Amino acid sequence: MELLSIEKSKPGRRGVRFEKTHKQAVDYLPENLLRTTAPRLPEMSEFDTVRHFTRLSQLNYSLDGQFYPLGSCTMKYNPKAYDKLSVLEPFANAHPFAPENAVQGTLQIMYELQEMLKEITGLSAFTLQPAAGAHGELTGILTVRAYHDAHGSSSRTEVIVPDTAHGTNPATANMAGYAVVNIKSSADGCVDKKALQAALSDKTAAVMLTVPNTVGLFEKDIREISDMVHKAGALLYMDGANFNALIGLAKPADFGVDVMHLNLHKTFAAPHGGGGPGSGPVGAAEHVAPFLPKPIVEKKDGVYTLTGEMPQSLGKMKAFYGNIAVVLRGYCYLRQFDADTLKDIAEKAILNANYVRAKLKGKFDAFFDVNCMHECVLSIDPSTMNGVHTADVAKRLLDYGFYAPTIYFPLIVPEAMMIEPTETESKDMLDAFVEALEEIYNEIQITPQLLHEAPRTRVVGRIDEVSAARQPNLRW
Ligand SMILES: *Cc1c(COP(=O)(O)O)cnc(C)c1O
Repeated sequence: MELLSIEKSKPGRRGVRFEKTHKQAVDYLPENLLRTTAPRLPEMSEFDTVRHFTRLSQLNYSLDGQFYPLGSCTMKYNPKAYDKLSVLEPFANAHPFAPENAVQGTLQIMYELQEMLKEITGLSAFTLQPAAGAHGELTGILTVRAYHDAHGSSSRTEVIVPDTAHGTNPATANMAGYAVVNIKSSADGCVDKKALQAALSDKTAAVMLTVPNTVGLFEKDIREISDMVHKAGALLYMDGANFNALIGLAKPADFGVDVMHLNLHKTFAAPHGGGGPGSGPVGAAEHVAPFLPKPIVEKKDGVYTLTGEMPQSLGKMKAFYGNIAVVLRGYCYLRQFDADTLKDIAEKAILNANYVRAKLKGKFDAFFDVNCMHECVLSIDPSTMNGVHTADVAKRLLDYGFYAPTIYFPLIVPEAMMIEPTETESKDMLDAFVEALEEIYNEIQITPQLLHEAPRTRVVGRIDEVSAARQPNLRW
């Protein structure tokens, strides 16, 4: 199949051509800057071009077309109405240097979103600046640093990260200049408290916990863990990117979290993927709030204002005030629900993950055989599966019309397959997905070769991932 328009090029084919009626850039450019040979562009008719790109767009796998069980990514349905609202002219065209009195509406929305995030987490303050989850982590850990610096404890140089943390956690701690101390989990997939106690010292600045952790489990001893952390003089950072599992059910402040981030582009219905714009607001408990980035939106005498009066603030983490279009979507989403219905989101997300886990039992088993939160992490033993590996199952799922789950992550689960169905999928869709995996399980018993050759029905077949990584050829 011709994937590139240049392969379809036929000499002399043209799209619409307009007569030159007014001065063009070439009329102003000095002679020596003008090219002497024509660019090598595909020559195609306009109609062929439209068809070519439309067809390519249809080859894209998309959330609007199919199920996307990508673990730790919360690929749920994002109501289209929010997209429309977020590009309304007064918001989309607001100039970042506009005076406060000209953008009261935008400031009000930012303020109210801060308030709603405070309410659902129990924390005292939020900044909407960070542009992504990982950026939120960096902001959070730099906030921790500013806190320790102000408390004369700059000698705290270590951040403890359990092996069930998201991969960005150790990267963040390292980037913020801390030494990363890894601790192993216990056999139940949760933090090993003995290992934690042994790692805690007067050098510990913070412990970073991903909650729920990357094996899809809630840290059941979190209250005790936070007491241990605080006793050692350290702060508890919570990676709340997967708050879809907790929203309306639990407030992190209640179990002693000092600083955390949320991903608006996961839980709060902003479309994401492909590195698009995100938002990773960071919240802090009262004793840490003064160190958050500034400015934060405040309300004074009924007027919304960006406050720069935060003398202990770590400063700015992003140009201007964050990705407002994503903030707007998060705001719309939260305004839609009252407290009781918010809980429904988490409960259904948890129910759906456990439904898939229970249905697949005996064929593809969860690594930790307990109720999970919003995602289940399965594991495959190739020695009992005719040599079939998780990557083969993932590729075969593409043939069945499903996106592959997250695979080989978390690292502590051998041959991991991390499935996050989200609350927005119907039972019919979950059943179809389970059926596909059951069918694949049967193939593993009878025709394992099929799996090694998968995908067979996609435009691009099995690629040589090793060569692709070692000798990347990024040019056509
Ligand atoms: C997605 C995710 C992140 C990173 O978020 P980005 O917006 O991709 O930077 C961090 N932690 C966890 C647990 C996540 O699931």
